[in-house]
Amino acid sequence: MSIRTTCPYCGVGCGVLARPDATTGTVSIAGDPAHPANRGRLCSKGSALGQTLGTDGRLLYPQIDGQRVSMETALNHVAAGFRRIVDQHGPDSVALYVSGQLLTEDYYVANKLMKGFIGSANIDTNSRLCMSSAVSGHKRAFGEDIVPVCYDDLELADLIVLVGSNTAWCHPVLFQRISQAKQQRPELKIVVIDPRRTVTCEIADLHLPVRGGSDVWLFNGLLAYLQQHGHAAMDFIKNHTDGLDEALEVALDSAGDLQSVADACGIDTDLLLEFYGLFASRTRVITAFSMGVNQSSAGTDKVNSIVNCHLLTGRIGQPGMGPFSVTGQPNAMGGREVGGLANMLAAHLELEDAGHRNLVQGFWRSPRIAERGGLKAVELFDAIHDGTVKAVWIMATNPVVSLPDADKIKAALRRCELVVVSDCFQATDTNAFAHVLLPAAGWGEKDGTVTNSERRISRQRAFHSLSGEARPDWWLICEVARRLGFNTGFNYDNAHEIFVEHAALSALDNDGERAFDIGGLAELKASEYDALDPIQWPVPHRGHPGTPRLLESGRFYRSNGKARFVPTPPRAPVHAPDATFPYVLNTGRIRDQWHTMTRTGRAPQLASHLPEPFIDMHAQDALLSAVSDGQLARVETRWGVMVARVKTSGEVARGSVFVPIHWNDSCASDGRVGALVNPIVDPISGEPEFKHTPARVTPFAVNWHGFVLARTPLASLDATWWTAIRGARFMRYEFAGRGPSPNSEWARRALQATNADVDWLEYSDGATGVFRGALLIDERIAGCVFISSRTDLPSRAWLSTLFAKKRISDADRASLLNGGPTAAAEDPGPLVCSCFGVGRNTLCAAIARAGLKTPQEVGQKLKAGTNCGSCLPEIRQLLATTV
Ligand code: SF4
Repeated sequence: MSIRTTCPYCGVGCGVLARPDATTGTVSIAGDPAHPANRGRLCSKGSALGQTLGTDGRLLYPQIDGQRVSMETALNHVAAGFRRIVDQHGPDSVALYVSGQLLTEDYYVANKLMKGFIGSANIDTNSRLCMSSAVSGHKRAFGEDIVPVCYDDLELADLIVLVGSNTAWCHPVLFQRISQAKQQRPELKIVVIDPRRTVTCEIADLHLPVRGGSDVWLFNGLLAYLQQHGHAAMDFIKNHTDGLDEALEVALDSAGDLQSVADACGIDTDLLLEFYGLFASRTRVITAFSMGVNQSSAGTDKVNSIVNCHLLTGRIGQPGMGPFSVTGQPNAMGGREVGGLANMLAAHLELEDAGHRNLVQGFWRSPRIAERGGLKAVELFDAIHDGTVKAVWIMATNPVVSLPDADKIKAALRRCELVVVSDCFQATDTNAFAHVLLPAAGWGEKDGTVTNSERRISRQRAFHSLSGEARPDWWLICEVARRLGFNTGFNYDNAHEIFVEHAALSALDNDGERAFDIGGLAELKASEYDALDPIQWPVPHRGHPGTPRLLESGRFYRSNGKARFVPTPPRAPVHAPDATFPYVLNTGRIRDQWHTMTRTGRAPQLASHLPEPFIDMHAQDALLSAVSDGQLARVETRWGVMVARVKTSGEVARGSVFVPIHWNDSCASDGRVGALVNPIVDPISGEPEFKHTPARVTPFAVNWHGFVLARTPLASLDATWWTAIRGARFMRYEFAGRGPSPNSEWARRALQATNADVDWLEYSDGATGVFRGALLIDERIAGCVFISSRTDLPSRAWLSTLFAKKRISDADRASLLNGGPTAAAEDPGPLVCSCFGVGRNTLCAAIARAGLKTPQEVGQKLKAGTNCGSCLPEIRQLLATTV
């Protein structure tokens, strides 16, 4: 039987059908056709969820200082530590650092414990890193953190502006919905605003490669243009807004002249005019924005500069229009609902409002309530570093990889008196600093709710029993709360009891004053909660069908019921490139990995698309930096350094470098880009500037390069630089080194082939530094190693086909020694389609030979692109370039 649940990755919030097979112990995964967010679709990450399950690598029992202990001992230890530190130093000396991966129920009790019972607002979340600027912008403009639009609006729009969003890779199912809408209605225009020419541009009518950090100039210029060209909706402005004059004055002052905007944005005036003209001429406009807007020291102003344009034209609250913050994580929105950010209370009530505090304290019957905002993520770890915060409990997140200036996070945790980490997995970079490890339930074992980018609450349902001694996060929190002496307030038996309390709080003293009202779900019986269909808040009364779109009446949630135009004086990023650090380091996600790879790194299907960290830069900049495509380079900033392979994809403009965020110390020797990121934050939202750190790129000199594919993980790898990733039938290690090139002894030791009688193939050429070795066991390939003084090593895709063979033929043996297949057709090339394992060479050959013209024809021929569709933009690129 299939269980209806929700994908645990991005904020699209796709419905998933999970069907466990008791015989094989596997779980088959499919998109839920009945879920309104995805209507049966899943992207490559969602499709591979079944490969991330299982107990291999799980944290299965509690540990103190690396030693297994009973759950009772661990919980007592955590509670005693927190109690002692609070008693000695006060409530603000302890903190929780939580995550958009938590379920709403987990989040709710964590926030309740910290703000209502311990009495500090020192609870912040990794959602601070992805969408807190959107929250601040919404609150300033609307009076509440409201996302007015829904996914269906994307299909109703006449113009979709995607700002700072590589939607094709970061929100793939939304991208598929947009692509399909454009196919059905070619008159739908798509504008992509992004310094990089990402695969999202494949469906764009217009790409504005603006200079990073220039968005406020761009949208102030648009505001001025719309006003000057008679597109202001005067009735809407008069009846539903205030503050236009001030905002307009700032916009005209900073961006009233087209040429100055074009100069600030680094684009031609023609391009600018084309965008402004498109925006002006279409009523149904959605401006969807994501990390490229939020992750900035001016993130909140960027959000408001976008919102201002929608308010001026009255394009908000009606079908197919509005500003749309697309959240990164599966439950970033749920965290906002319960007050998971240090500057929020709960249920969209305000920490600064004494009346709201009294209301919540009375509802919780809590002994105290935090009276002021707590420390936001970057400040929180600074406070741990300087010793002000002495105990921290980190839940479901990996800050040693993901926070800016991430080496400082290591130093902070090293100094901290008590570090507790609850996680599903044993070997995360952050766990290495924990005094106490608590095993948390994984996806598939968890029961609760998440809210996606369009305010849709969906159930996450367990389809596996708990592994080992793992427990749901809410349970761990409540057990510690009770041991802290809070005997009332945390006696829940299940997630349902927490959810209905959360729903009741949202309705408390509300009367429509706060948009976040799910009082209609407060009386759900357990069976109704179990069966709850996805529903969009507000749900103000029982039986209410949910609310796809907000603000339809034009009433906003400020005290006067009006929206506010917020003046947004543009300002440049705090640190500009200079002679020492001439490039702008931009960071972001890739198609087939999620966050710090603790889950997606376990899925072989996701390993091959981009198997190692990279530095993408413009070919001319690479030349000037004396590095070239395929070679290793150092990227260095004032905060840290990393090493990765250079790529000149053509996506990145001059002056920028792009590095993915995912690699950690477990899977790369020098791949944590977080260590390089400038820790400066937006002064209002506290969101860090992940997109704009001055950097330099220099060659990373090595004498030799190599890789190993091995069915059994290597015990050790002696190399200067390395990465490791789990492939379909092997572990893949890429490495490079200084000093003498590895020899036969090195290779045999690495593959544990030291016995003289093993079936070992070897070719060595001392003059060129080429070494090839392969270990065969029972006529199957068990491992191979290839080393060269150059980077042009054999195709890993071809070798992976040998690992699939039950018997290695004589011809295969010869090809292993030759370092390549006997026929080009045997090499499928770099992976494009993860679902069906189709490589670029296979695609190009089929396109050329069969004269394929469309992705549909490619799908019919090779199946590529017919499951999750995440590779369709790349297939379209190949169709356009293959002759
Ligand atoms: Fe999961 Fe992909 Fe859907 Fe995001 S788009 S929720 S990662 S299946």
